Amino acid sequence: MSTLEIKDLHVSVETKEGPKPILRGVDLTIDSGKTHAIMGPNGSGKSTLAYSLAGHPKYQVTSGSVSLDGHDVLAMSVDERARAGLFLAMQYPVEVPGVSVSNFLRTAKTAIDGEAPALRTWIKDVKGAMEALRMDPAFAERNVNEGFSGGEKKRHEILQMELLKPKFAILDETDSGLDVDALRIVSEGVNRVKGNTDTGFLLITHYTRILRYITPDFVHVFVDGRIAEEGGPELADRLENEGYDRFLTSATA
Ligand code: ADP
Ligand code: MG
Ligand code: MG
Repeated sequence: MSTLEIKDLHVSVETKEGPKPILRGVDLTIDSGKTHAIMGPNGSGKSTLAYSLAGHPKYQVTSGSVSLDGHDVLAMSVDERARAGLFLAMQYPVEVPGVSVSNFLRTAKTAIDGEAPALRTWIKDVKGAMEALRMDPAFAERNVNEGFSGGEKKRHEILQMELLKPKFAILDETDSGLDVDALRIVSEGVNRVKGNTDTGFLLITHYTRILRYITPDFVHVFVDGRIAEEGGPELADRLENEGYDRFLTSATA
């Protein structure tokens, strides 16, 4: 069993006007095999939490801690975080010129495991994961993120997750609107990994719709840089019906 523990996390983002405080004391503990949904209005700091866990240099942790089985995640480089078993979907969001999906995946797998995967099983695993995602085999030869559509980016993200078998996966569904196809790909991929591994999930989302496909164990409502309310899956149903109004009113009162 593994545990990812976020304690009283405060984070500021670098802006032209100087550092701007965004996260204002986040407390969250995730155990292996559990799915936590973080939901909240736009601008509440959900993506900032994801970027902070990913080690993005623009996001400065001003206080608090993040640990994985007692190891200080905040002291780790981005690569060390991946080797420790954290999967952060936005870790490599940029185009990687001249590197094919296939090479990229093998390099990442080798870096995380500390040894190259056995070629025959690896080829079989990649093929199987791509089939499960209904991906054209030619996709493996394309350069990472070069001209990827929104749906292809999502598929690539889930493909990485399925092959790298992380201890914890942090998926920020961004508010840019997944179409129904992409939503299904992400949901099915998460459910497959949930069923086959002991991965813990942090699923960050503005909309409740993905939670019709993935049942979280816990729902946390994020408002104004911290968790304002927590509950089980029924909380997502309530948010679907009521929206975030009641939180916004109390946050500005
Ligand atoms: P969410 O993902 O919940 O929509 P974000 O974490 O993206 O929220 O943003 C939280 C707040 O931080 C917003 O007010 C946003 O404008 C601000 N913010 C986030 N990143 C940056 C940045 N790189 N520069 C300036 N402001 C930022
Ligand atoms: Mg946003
Ligand atoms: Mg966001």
